[in-house]
Amino acid sequence: MSATSTDSGSLDATAGIPADLLIGGEWVAAASGRPRIAVENPADGEVLAEIADADVADALAALDAAAAAQAGWAATPARERCELLRSAFERLRAERERFATIISLEMGKPLREARAEVDYGAEFLRWYAEEGVRLQGDYRISPDGGSRILVKPQPIGPCLLITPWNFPLAMATRKIAPALAAGCTAILKPATLTPLASLAFAQLLVEVGVPAGVLGILTTSGAGALSSALLADGRIRKVSFTGSTEVGRRLIAASGEKVVATSMELGGNAPFLVFADADLEAAVDGALVAKMRNMGEACTAANRFLVADPVADEFARLLSARIAALRVGPGTDEASEVGPLIDAESRDRVAGLVAAAADDGATVHVGGAPLSGPGYFFEPTVLEGVDPTGPLLGDEIFGPVAPIVRFGSDEEAIELANDTEYGLVSYAYTRDLERALRVADALEAGMVAINRGLVSNAAAPFGGIKQSGLGREGGREGIEDYLDLKYVALDL
Ligand code: NAD
Repeated sequence: MSATSTDSGSLDATAGIPADLLIGGEWVAAASGRPRIAVENPADGEVLAEIADADVADALAALDAAAAAQAGWAATPARERCELLRSAFERLRAERERFATIISLEMGKPLREARAEVDYGAEFLRWYAEEGVRLQGDYRISPDGGSRILVKPQPIGPCLLITPWNFPLAMATRKIAPALAAGCTAILKPATLTPLASLAFAQLLVEVGVPAGVLGILTTSGAGALSSALLADGRIRKVSFTGSTEVGRRLIAASGEKVVATSMELGGNAPFLVFADADLEAAVDGALVAKMRNMGEACTAANRFLVADPVADEFARLLSARIAALRVGPGTDEASEVGPLIDAESRDRVAGLVAAAADDGATVHVGGAPLSGPGYFFEPTVLEGVDPTGPLLGDEIFGPVAPIVRFGSDEEAIELANDTEYGLVSYAYTRDLERALRVADALEAGMVAINRGLVSNAAAPFGGIKQSGLGREGGREGIEDYLDLKYVALDL
């Protein structure tokens, strides 16, 4: 079954996307016969497609196929595997507009950001097509002078890949590309809210010639049951998850029984520090990117703007003016700069956080309320004077809301920045190189952006510390999570 196109124009992009499960190289209906799951456009509630709802039997069938394909895929020359990824990169680039439209329709982000996601997502295919042919072993001589030590990387085995709704394509390619390049087979479980870009991409991989069983794809309303069954089976050797810290904790626990390796890209609560010597115009430009990209629905979204006292008024004025001028509308309208939130629940949660902060005495400079429907829009918002112990600063906001907090000394700024269980990314603006390096050292985060509002880069090791995650994606490190090392002791 394919997704049905319900309208002309931009909805043509969704026509022909498979809406079934990819198991053993075939698109098949769910064995359960459970009702299909409607995928909605968050800008207007329109149903874009109805996808299969897999159950545990489907998951185990996909695992049978992945396990059966594992040895053959591992034995396929790296060049051959990587040429397929390269072909997928070329196809994705050629179909940039189609994929951008799919992402924008199902997730809501503005087209210009959806195009950037296609570019970013495609880059992982190119990067790992290049890295996958350069995996190096090692030949060592034991200190006793006699024996030799051979060390060789080998694929870890079938992988379970679970992705969130906020970057429907890039989070999938960031996992699929290194897994396949390393010689692992994989089963992808995309988010049920935004599965269409992943389904279209899986079809693209089939078309470029990825062999049957090497990639399976399961959509389901029962993610917990499916992942538990797959992790308890013993044949999955790796789970790579991007999503909330809460679900990540559960997956880490479930991986214990069969000692499955885990990579976890979890939530964040990014501080954005503006020091008194910062270029304020540049800081505001960076703040717009770090806060408003993806409507604030990003693990990397700046969650807390910590601004030095002497420049706080000016920063608040400049940021408020820019945020008030943003055009809010459906992502597929070329003019839109901020799209809808993903669903009514998210919009209501963000509204609740802002209302509670205002009740506790915060001053709302701009925005502050949901917009009337259709769609789940929330006004881009700037506020100040927020209770430092309240949920707005403690939780991931996941919405277009920028709270400003003032600080006195650098020490206070660092203390405020690190006062969270998360440690994904921190941003800092300063023109003082010595301060920049000192602050970068002191910030408890897997990634630090200095005078930039964006860290995502396929060539860099993306990931968090503390409760933001385990492992890295991207860069030369990203493929290591899909490799085991074998040591061969050798006497000649
Ligand atoms: P989520 O944790 O609710 O869901 C993520 C995925 O896990 C989805 O595919 C979902 O269906 C699946 N899932 C849900 N319950 C599960 C279970 N019990 N077992 C297995 N899978 C399960 O997160 P979300 O709402 O889709 O995404 C938002 C979260 O993702 C935010 O916390 C955000 O910070 C995080 N995120 C992190 C990164 C990163 O790289 N660190 C990137 C993007 C998003």
